[in-house]
Amino acid sequence: MKFELPTLCVHAGTIKDEKFRGINSPIYTSTSYEYIDRDDTVYPRYFNTPNEQSVAQRIAELESCEAGLVFSSGMAAISTVLFTFLSKGDHAVFQKGLYGGTSHFLASEFERFGISYTIAASQEPADIEAAIRKETRLIYVETPSNPLLRVTDLAGVAAIGKKHGILTMVDNTFASPVNQQPHTLGIDIVMHSATKYLGGHSDICAGAVLGTREVMKKVHATSLGFGGSLNAITLYLLERSIKTLDVRMQRINSNAGAVAAFLAQHPSVARVNYPGLPEDPGYAIACRQMRGFGGMLSFELRDADSLTFQKKLKLIRPSMSLGGSETIVSSPVLTSHRHLSKEERQETGITDGLIRFSAGLESQADLIDDLDQALG
Ligand SMILES: *Cc1c(COP(=O)(O)O)cnc(C)c1O
Repeated sequence: MKFELPTLCVHAGTIKDEKFRGINSPIYTSTSYEYIDRDDTVYPRYFNTPNEQSVAQRIAELESCEAGLVFSSGMAAISTVLFTFLSKGDHAVFQKGLYGGTSHFLASEFERFGISYTIAASQEPADIEAAIRKETRLIYVETPSNPLLRVTDLAGVAAIGKKHGILTMVDNTFASPVNQQPHTLGIDIVMHSATKYLGGHSDICAGAVLGTREVMKKVHATSLGFGGSLNAITLYLLERSIKTLDVRMQRINSNAGAVAAFLAQHPSVARVNYPGLPEDPGYAIACRQMRGFGGMLSFELRDADSLTFQKKLKLIRPSMSLGGSETIVSSPVLTSHRHLSKEERQETGITDGLIRFSAGLESQADLIDDLDQALG
């Protein structure tokens, strides 16, 4: 039988408890497994313990991919994949406007390993194609992007990858598999920071990579040496969280949509970035490739000082990260982009008054009331 996504969230990959017939996957904490009379050797850093494999299977099914690996963080997932497919002399093309940790990683590590890269002029497929060279081995995009929520045409990027014989990869963290399944649009490798929506409760750090069996076999070979595997207890928390992923995302999508509409008509707000608003530049592509518009948005305050606004909030907490049950806001100039100069921030569109918003599971009315009183 073929199941739909809400059913897969609850059931995919569950380990059947043959002995006690419990409903949940048992947690296998062992780091030592017997080896006599079996073909494989099992060890946590080989990414082949029962809980690792069952959660990897669950997320792979959510992304309509053949295989997956779960890592100890999103960055462990990203760095392992990049070092799997990029070697000395190779070149990669990255979309403009990436998660801060990813751009920092490229800037600090690639050169000393002899890997070159180009940040495309924009997220437009034509700009991405223009950056391709004969040694390009990977195209990497992120959509919707952080913190400006730019939307990349995934089918367009996949077509460019296929035309030039180059692997394509997407950071699907902001969308979650509930809203967007890039592999079905032709993207080769899908990555998640499971610290965000997959984990969903602001209490675990994890990452995931999904793709074809062939691609994941190569990633697995590299991952043994980089060693970014996840422990059984956290794997179990991740499995437990994913069971409610679909219902959480439905509430999160509708909360973000209502807040975006509220902010868009508020006199103190100069601009709202949310792919679900019909006036947003990403709206048409988002309608094509997303089933929901997600829980992330950002907005620019017209005159108000962003620090004063954040201090006035009573329910919504200014905090790092995103994707939890609690609605939070963050100011990119004070957090993720604090190391950029004023010119660099101008260049990337990160203004002093920009606020990033991660919708949680609270009541829509309470969230809007809190924003309204803080906007004053
Ligand atoms: C948080 C995040 C990452 C990095 O994940 P960690 O789990 O913090 O290592 C990568 N991409 C995006 C879009 C993120 O939000």
